[in-house]
Amino acid sequence: EVALAGMTEFSTRVEEISISGIREVFEAAGEGAINLGLGQPDFPTPPHAREAAVEAIRAGRADAYTSNKGIEPLREAIVAKHERDQGLDLDPERVIATAGGSEALHLALEAHVEPGEEVLIPDPGFVSYDALTRLAGGTPVPVPLREDLTIDPAAIEAAITDDTAAFVVNSPANPTGAVASETDVKEFARIADEHDVLCLSDEVYEYTIFDGEHYSPAQYAESDNVVLVNAASKLYSMTGWRLGWVTASKRRIERMLRVHQYIQACASAPAQFAAEAALTGPQDVVDEMSESFERRRDVLLEGLSEAGIDCPTPRGAFYAMPNVPDGFIEECLDRGVIVVPGEAFGAHGAGYARISYATDEETLREAIDIMEKAADAVR
Ligand code: PLP
Repeated sequence: EVALAGMTEFSTRVEEISISGIREVFEAAGEGAINLGLGQPDFPTPPHAREAAVEAIRAGRADAYTSNKGIEPLREAIVAKHERDQGLDLDPERVIATAGGSEALHLALEAHVEPGEEVLIPDPGFVSYDALTRLAGGTPVPVPLREDLTIDPAAIEAAITDDTAAFVVNSPANPTGAVASETDVKEFARIADEHDVLCLSDEVYEYTIFDGEHYSPAQYAESDNVVLVNAASKLYSMTGWRLGWVTASKRRIERMLRVHQYIQACASAPAQFAAEAALTGPQDVVDEMSESFERRRDVLLEGLSEAGIDCPTPRGAFYAMPNVPDGFIEECLDRGVIVVPGEAFGAHGAGYARISYATDEETLREAIDIMEKAADAVR
């Protein structure tokens, strides 16, 4: 066998990341367990979005590559959405349609992070920030959340060094359900401006907010240092379609397009037609989903409180992140309820559990009963 000195079979980058801890919990659970570990809405995709894809397929309009950035009507619909919701003044040249929010995050990090540079990520935070930073050759630097699980602008500012390329913010947040206040979002924008670092703003749960409003750093930044990521996935219950987008200044989009062109060419054409229809069609589904999640959040919070488990009130997304007693997560698994250990989202998640309430109310109540018994058993 001839091996070049120092040659490794797999890249160090890929060896440094591992399969998400969330999967492991699913696999450890018995059959028939109630799964409160899922990260997707339990609603069907709006019928008009499905129909638009079917029609495009039937008419032969979805057979070929689209433009790398995505079909013009979709990018126009995305521009109109951000104008309507955030008052942003974009244009279709400042949008790339991607394979979900995941690809959008990947493009942003790949295009902006130099090997060895640091990316500040919320801890606990969505699992991809750490992995995608490493794949881009960067070093993830976990920034702890506040006690109430919101992202702390002061902690971000204090963590900035000469090597910081970017900081990631996420509101509403996975895994906490926390929503950033307007004051904090303005701070994110100011930090991006003043320190000349990129603010990567992941807003995929934008439409699931129960009280208050959604704010984007893109509304307040004076520089072009904000890259905004969003997706049809959670906004319209379209996780399987794999359609997201990234918006930024033209020069940043041009750099991200170089990556997108080679790894993806374009987002799936049928999904682009479906997302265009979702964005331009009736928006009542969005309110219906939010109202339903809010009811279930209240049911869950009440149950947790009865079980004596403390939980900061989640104001968005469909997750709660309570501080749980030792052994609680394992006890739940044994009794047939899957919740995800907070460590799966970063070291500061230790002692917490992420509970997804994207499940029907009856099942949720059943799970709460079991969680109450599990809490008693481990105390
Ligand atoms: N960002 C956050 C915070 C998420 O929770 C997820 C999915 O769980 C994503 C991005 C990726 O979403 P998509 O399915 O659009 O790739």
